[in-house]
Amino acid sequence: MLICEIVSVGTELVLGNTEDTNATFLSARLRALGWAVKFRQTCGDHLGRLTDTLRLALSRSDCVIVTGGLGPTYDDITRDALAALLGKALSLREESVEEIRAYFAGRGRPMSENNLRQAMIPEGAEPLRNLWGTAPGIRARVGEKEIFLLPGVPREMKAMFEAYLAPALAERSGGILCTRILRLFGIGESVLDEKLSAVLRESVNPSVAPFAGEGEVSLHVTCSAETQAEANGRIEEKLGEILSVVEEYLYGEGEDTLASVLISRFGAQGLTLAAAESCTGGLLSQMLTAVPGSSAVLQGGVVAYTEEIKEKVLGVSRHMLTEQGVYSLACAEKMAEGARRLCGSSLGIGITGVAGPDGGTEENPVGTVYIAVSGKSGCVSERFLFPVTADARERIRLLSAKNAMAMALKYAHLFQNESKKQGNF
Ligand code: ATP
Ligand code: MG
Repeated sequence: MLICEIVSVGTELVLGNTEDTNATFLSARLRALGWAVKFRQTCGDHLGRLTDTLRLALSRSDCVIVTGGLGPTYDDITRDALAALLGKALSLREESVEEIRAYFAGRGRPMSENNLRQAMIPEGAEPLRNLWGTAPGIRARVGEKEIFLLPGVPREMKAMFEAYLAPALAERSGGILCTRILRLFGIGESVLDEKLSAVLRESVNPSVAPFAGEGEVSLHVTCSAETQAEANGRIEEKLGEILSVVEEYLYGEGEDTLASVLISRFGAQGLTLAAAESCTGGLLSQMLTAVPGSSAVLQGGVVAYTEEIKEKVLGVSRHMLTEQGVYSLACAEKMAEGARRLCGSSLGIGITGVAGPDGGTEENPVGTVYIAVSGKSGCVSERFLFPVTADARERIRLLSAKNAMAMALKYAHLFQNESKKQGNF
C-alpha cells in the first residue's frame, strides 16, 4: 500500500488553540481512497522547521499533503518552505493572479497587494485553482513522489481535496473512485447542512460533500471501492439516505442544469414555452437557447422592458398597471399569459422585478422579483426577494431566470394534468 503523510501547518495548532480537524478529515478520506497514513506531523509557522518537516515527510512517504500557511501574510510561509525544499525560486503566476483578482472583483471586495503573494508558486510546480477562496493550492512532483499544498481553511481544503486530490490519489492507489452528483434547487447551503447534518458528517465512504452555486447546491457522493459494482451499490444506498431527506429539491444529476432538464423534460412531454422578460432582459431565453434541442420547446419570447411594450405587445392592461403597478403578481401573470397567447405555446413565463441598483421602493425594494407561469388551466405566481450583495444586479437577474425555470418545472405537470383531464392535450 502506498503511504501518504499529512502535515498540518500553524502555530495555533501546535499551541493547542485550534483543533487539527484537517488532519482528521484527511486521514479518513485517504483511508477510503486506498492509501495508508503512517505519519502525521504538525509544525508551527517557521520556515526552517517547516522545511525540515517537509523533507522528513518526503523521505519516508510516497505522497505528502500539507494544509495551512498559504495565506497572504508574512507568517504564511508554506510556499517558501516548499521552494526551499525543492531548491527552486518562487515566481508569480499570471493565471493565479487573474484568479485572485477575479475572486475579489466577484465579491466586490478590495484586494490588498499582499494577496498577490498567494500567486507565488515554486518553479516547476503546478498551481491548483481555488474556487472556494483566494489561496491557490500547489502540486509538485519530486521524482516518483508528490507533495500537495492546500489552504488551512477547512472548507476550502476539503473542496480542493475532493476536486483535485481525490481523483488523482484514487487512480494511483489502484482502487476505483466513483462520484455521483445530485443537483438541488431552492435550498441554501446552510439549510441543507442542517437537514443533512448527520449524513454529511458521518459519511466517510461514500463521502458526501456539498458545493454551493447560485441559488443551488450540488452534492458530490464519492465512493472508493475495489470494483465498479461495489461502488455503485454503496452509492445507491447513500443516495437513498440523502433523498429521503431532500428529494423535493432534486432537479437533476451530473452535468444537468435547470435549463437542460427543462428542455429535455418539456421536449419529452411535448410541452412548449414562451417567455416575457422584463428585468432579466432575455437572460432566461438565452439560458434556454444555449441548450441543444431547445427549439422544440422554446417558441419565442419578448423582452418587455417598458410599460408601453408590456401593454402593446403583451396585452397587459393600462388599468392593471395603474392599479397594481408594474412590480406585482398581477403584472407577471398578465405578461406570462400574453407571451403564451402570442406564441401559442403550452406554457408562458412572466418575469418583472427590480434588479437595481436604483428603482427600489419601500414596497418593492431592490431584489424584489415577481414570476408567473401561465398554462391553459390557470396561472401560478410568486414573489421573490433576493439578497442584495455586491454584484446584486447580475445575481438578481440570474436568480430570477433560474427560479423561473424551477417554477416552470414544478408546475408544468399541474397544467398538463389538468389540461389532460379536460381533454385538451
Ligand atoms: P488564509 O488564507 O486564511 O490565511 P491559510 O492557508 O494561510 O489560509 P491558515 O492561516 O493556516 O491557512 O488557517 C486559516 C484558518 O483555518 C484558521 O482559522 C485556522 O484556524 C484554520 N485552520 C488551519 N489549519 C487547520 C487545521 N489543520 N485544522 C483545522 N483548522 C485549521
Ligand atoms: Mg494564514
